[in-house]
Amino acid sequence: MKNILITNVLFNKQRKDILIEGNLISKVEPAGTIPAEGYDKVIDGSSKAIIPGFVNSHAHSAMTLFRGVGEDVPLDQWLKERIWPYEAKLDEEMVYWGAKLACIEMIKTGTTTFNDMYWHIKGTLRAAEEMGMRSVQSYCWMDSMDESLFEENKARLQKAHRMSLDWSPLTTFAISPHAIYTVTGKAFRYINSYARDNDLIVHTHLAETRSEMDQSERDYGMSPTEYLNKLGLLGPNLVAAHSLWLSSDDIALLGANGVNTVHNPNSNLKLASGYKFKYNELRDAGANICLGTDGCASSNNLDMIDSMKTAALLQKVWRNDPGAIPLKELMDVASYNGARALRINAGRIEPGYLADVALIDMNRPSFVPGHYFLANLVYAANGECIDTVICNGKILMENKYIPGEDLIYKKVQEVADQVVDYKKKKKA
Ligand SMILES: [Zn+2]
Repeated sequence: MKNILITNVLFNKQRKDILIEGNLISKVEPAGTIPAEGYDKVIDGSSKAIIPGFVNSHAHSAMTLFRGVGEDVPLDQWLKERIWPYEAKLDEEMVYWGAKLACIEMIKTGTTTFNDMYWHIKGTLRAAEEMGMRSVQSYCWMDSMDESLFEENKARLQKAHRMSLDWSPLTTFAISPHAIYTVTGKAFRYINSYARDNDLIVHTHLAETRSEMDQSERDYGMSPTEYLNKLGLLGPNLVAAHSLWLSSDDIALLGANGVNTVHNPNSNLKLASGYKFKYNELRDAGANICLGTDGCASSNNLDMIDSMKTAALLQKVWRNDPGAIPLKELMDVASYNGARALRINAGRIEPGYLADVALIDMNRPSFVPGHYFLANLVYAANGECIDTVICNGKILMENKYIPGEDLIYKKVQEVADQVVDYKKKKKA
């Protein structure tokens, strides 16, 4: 069994020795009390701090290939004229390379787990496992409201689920009906019963835009949240990305059913989808609030520290309350709450939790002076402060270096050039 000792590292305002045995944190003791001998690896933590690895609870990782295309257009146009035509060209190998880049970016910014929604999951799965990341990979169901595609989707979902039984413990299988405007009610009902029978997570987009809300009122005579409730989807196995356009009745429904909501502030701002995420109301109603980046085509990066900062600043300004989202809660939103949603025993640095952690390099201006570590982390630093990342007890990055990263950048550029041709890129 591999073990790693991290000595004299800053944790919760104190210096600690932290022992990792196998894939678990086994000891968190005062600094200097665990003798630094007899371990496979000893990391000197004296210029470092430790945090739980972030859980990016809503991502489309291979969309790194579209970083910087389709800028400055609204969501509908962005999807129909830019993203969907490019996505039609993707194959499993391209998705693999896009996801490899995403994994590098996530590891470099302290994320150890991501909840993905995309096609060609075998490509993303291979990338995540090679890079050593924990992830949830889901069968993405999108039928453009065409009921004739039901049987085909159903067979594909069942096949993907069977295939997932051979996956390593790092990866969990889930089902992703894309959204209420791209998936039929019949499909949602089926997905719900299949997920409940097989104890699976369901990951969807919910109430992202004003136009989705208007369309739902027009087509179903109710809000998107009420519609999902009518179809039986609301429950603790539902991960609802965005959950932005909500009435007080919607919030009560999400809370009472223990739904996991994922705030993606950078994506919402960039696509002008909205900004009044009802953090306090959802929390007080009983929803589990998580944080995500969304795909790189809309948020441009996968940096959870950047997302934390935007989330906090947004709450403060629209509520006119500088106390909104206290830093300690924000840390849970970015790690522990996501782990809960994805049924992973991570997000805390305590004995018995999974060894999914990030070490921060404090030898940089943003951490001096060290009056308040979390404030420095969220408001002064960004993802580049991450020095070392451990996931499932294995070191994925040390001293900011991930083996093989230069080759991956080169290959991803080649693949991206095949998907987005230069003339169209110029127009974009
Ligand atoms: Zn999304």
